[in-house]
Amino acid sequence: MAVRHRVVVIGSGFGGLFATRRLRRAPVDVTLIDRANHHLFQPLLYQVATGILSDGEIAPPSREILRRAPNVRVELANVTHIDLDARTVIGDQLGRKLVASYDSLIVATGSSHSYFGHDEFERWAPAMKTLDNARELRARLFGAFEVAEFETDVAARRSWMTFAVIGGGPTGVEVAGQIEELSRRSLRRNFRSIDPASARVVLCEAGPAILPTFGKRLSEMATRELERKGIDVLVNSAVVGVDASGVDLRSSDGKTTRIECMTKVWAAGVEASPLAGLLAEASGAEVDRHGRVHVLPDCTLEGHPEVFVIGDAMALGDLPGVAEVAIQQGLFAARTIRRRLRGRAESKPFRYIDLGSLAVVSRFRAVASIGPIRVGGFIGWLAWLVVHLTFLTGFKNRVAAVAHWAVSFVGRSRSERALTVDEIRPESKLADPGSH
Ligand SMILES: Cc1cc2nc3c(=O)[nH]c(=O)nc-3n(C[C@H](O)[C@H](O)[C@H](O)COP(=O)(O)OP(=O)(O)OC[C@H]3O[C@@H](n4cnc5c(N)ncnc54)[C@H](O)[C@@H]3O)c2cc1C
Repeated sequence: MAVRHRVVVIGSGFGGLFATRRLRRAPVDVTLIDRANHHLFQPLLYQVATGILSDGEIAPPSREILRRAPNVRVELANVTHIDLDARTVIGDQLGRKLVASYDSLIVATGSSHSYFGHDEFERWAPAMKTLDNARELRARLFGAFEVAEFETDVAARRSWMTFAVIGGGPTGVEVAGQIEELSRRSLRRNFRSIDPASARVVLCEAGPAILPTFGKRLSEMATRELERKGIDVLVNSAVVGVDASGVDLRSSDGKTTRIECMTKVWAAGVEASPLAGLLAEASGAEVDRHGRVHVLPDCTLEGHPEVFVIGDAMALGDLPGVAEVAIQQGLFAARTIRRRLRGRAESKPFRYIDLGSLAVVSRFRAVASIGPIRVGGFIGWLAWLVVHLTFLTGFKNRVAAVAHWAVSFVGRSRSERALTVDEIRPESKLADPGSH
């Protein structure tokens, strides 16, 4: 029996999953490798962190999504090495070595958060990139109100009731909006010693405006809406220090100020997965300042037409690190492999169709930048709803998400608030004076 063409896909995020799905009827055997057992819908991570959605609603198991693709094998492993000459991928499967050989390889390992050389900030200001991050943040957010309820020192209580979100891009804006929302609506009448509505939410942005990629008008509209909700929007405020009990900000005129706050969220920067650097080193390709490996116009690695690097891990022209780029490149890589198998070897360049970007600012309010169209307010929010429902993977997840959204948008409850003492991490305990 002739051996079929072997495709290895690393990463079950947007790029990897869409590539794999597109290959399910192709005459190929696909091995999809990821260190997590699920496909994560990162744009809704903040809803897990703020108690609206459950983990499962935004992270369906990859095996379940691909159950009707008999030519796809899913492997749980952390890929540590790619041997471009031997055409093998090497991974760690909970202590066991995984070796997967390929004829075509699709690397879709995405990015992780970057602390711009200050990795020590991470302990106090977790980012939001994985389910673990979102769960931890949920514990910190709801835990902060719990501690504030029994804290008797006024200054300490104030600091538990102050939340700093670092980074004024879409994620920072959405997280800040949701913290405000839960403090003023969801937690109403839940406490006896504190008034959750008196919580202070600060959004810190190093640049001169939040949401800069949405244009001046929408950026100003979002700022007005956040401020109307009571959020402090501090622009030209670069975070230069983060510790257990606060953040230090430096303004553009060089002045430094401090905000005492026990809960910090990092939404400021990303850097490509280390595998991008590894591929660059092995192939001689360049990396950009975010660690993304430069690819050729057909998304392949220089000198290796059998290796595609897609999504957040690659640099090509000025393509942004967004889900839609990863999805379209995943489909493109799968199409290219199918075309090659039909004997059409000529390479076609990848063309990105920009479907725009969206960010929720508050309940029923969002900003949407779709080509020349820039809309805000309720229409923007409807656009956000449609887009997120369209791309949320799995029918069950969509139904559950809609139900939860309806409850949280119309009512005020958040169902995902269960928390135990052990989940409030030792790092965030004010009682630990040595932690500063
Ligand atoms: C909080 C947040 C909100 C966002 N909101 C939006 C939004 O509203 N709109 C938008 O367009 N984009 C948004 N993005 C960006 C978008 O999610 C990314 O651009 C997109 O996920 C990139 O897809 P990808 O396939 O390249 O990587 P990812 O989706 O990140 O997938 C990478 C996969 O690779 C796996 N992996 C990584 N390294 C290894 C390894 N060594 N071994 C095995 N597996 C590995 C990971 O586990 C992961 O499953 C957001 C991102 C975040 C973090």
